[in-house]
Amino acid sequence: MRFEISKVLDAIEGRVCTDPSLARAVVDLAEVIRFQDIDGGRPASLLRLGMVIDALSRQLEEDSVQVYAVVHRALLSDADLTSNERMVVRRWADDGLVEVLDSPGDRMLEIADLLGLPVLTRVRLDGLRGRFPWLVEQPGRVLAPVPGAGGPTFVAHVGGGDTPVAGDRSPVGAKLLAREWRCPEAGCALFGSGGGGAFADLARVQRSPAAQAPPTLRNGVPTCPRHGTRLRDVGPRPRTEVLAVRIGGLVRRRFVLSEEQPVLVGRAPEGDGAIVLGQWLNDEARRWISRNHLRLELRVGEVIVTDVSTNGSGIRPGGSMAEGERVPLAPKQSRVLAENDMVELYPGVQVGRAEELPTGAPFTPASVMAEAPTMAMRLPRP
Ligand SMILES: [Zn+2]
Repeated sequence: MRFEISKVLDAIEGRVCTDPSLARAVVDLAEVIRFQDIDGGRPASLLRLGMVIDALSRQLEEDSVQVYAVVHRALLSDADLTSNERMVVRRWADDGLVEVLDSPGDRMLEIADLLGLPVLTRVRLDGLRGRFPWLVEQPGRVLAPVPGAGGPTFVAHVGGGDTPVAGDRSPVGAKLLAREWRCPEAGCALFGSGGGGAFADLARVQRSPAAQAPPTLRNGVPTCPRHGTRLRDVGPRPRTEVLAVRIGGLVRRRFVLSEEQPVLVGRAPEGDGAIVLGQWLNDEARRWISRNHLRLELRVGEVIVTDVSTNGSGIRPGGSMAEGERVPLAPKQSRVLAENDMVELYPGVQVGRAEELPTGAPFTPASVMAEAPTMAMRLPRP
């Protein structure tokens, strides 16, 4: 059981991030871990974060969904968590996977506002409707995770629906996220010097500037939410495009392609940021798809796909799945991926822009290609 739990915590670790392009909802970790009615277990449990993320995945009909977690600093020494759980949260904090704050205040809503994300909380936010009009104007922007038959489910604070709704980034958010920011505190996990500099080695994880968290605004000044220090504008943020992998009709994961470096996709590519598909493929697909199959680059705003495989790929212009509309992409060939195009590595295995690659199949583990379980983080009830 011990081993099982640490495996589940590792799985949850892959689902927390502060990347504005990948986070799909905002949560307050100190709140979520105390939803005791979800499993009737201990007063606080980190596994509840996994259960809420699972619920979000089910609602969005997408695998590997990530959330932006705000963490009150007191949680790092909360005696209701196990020592293992505290250690895990501290690691997340050190790696900048979560945002640690002395006093979270309205930060959860500020992030949701800047990034256009839904909020998963049971806290009533009536007093903040003036500052964040979308709280009432957009039903589905705030949902309460509540106990359900097959795990938690959601109830929207306004309108009572159960589907999380994303909005647009606020104009301020769009402005802040167009720039790269630097915190004067050495080794800042959120706004450290990602690409080098004197203190780069202090951060355990090298962060791409494209993945930087949104600053907080204090009197209109971009500020580090962790250190309360004024951030320095160090130039434009690299351009990015959010892509997704769809396998067997189900979006398996999203990833960010930035101007900084190409991304390799394949059965088992190596290297930082490579997209490994092997775990989701059946034997036949695994035989067809090369270890390194595609190389994707973002150049002057255009997504360029190069086949680096043995067997080749195909382009589905405009995302059409019709027979006969698949244009071959031979090994070593490159092509610009137009707006709605998808590249197909093998029938049923596609890569395209995330917003144009909706999940096309109901979220049932039986519909996927590999036999591996879809979600690893649900545990048997105690
Ligand atoms: Zn900082």
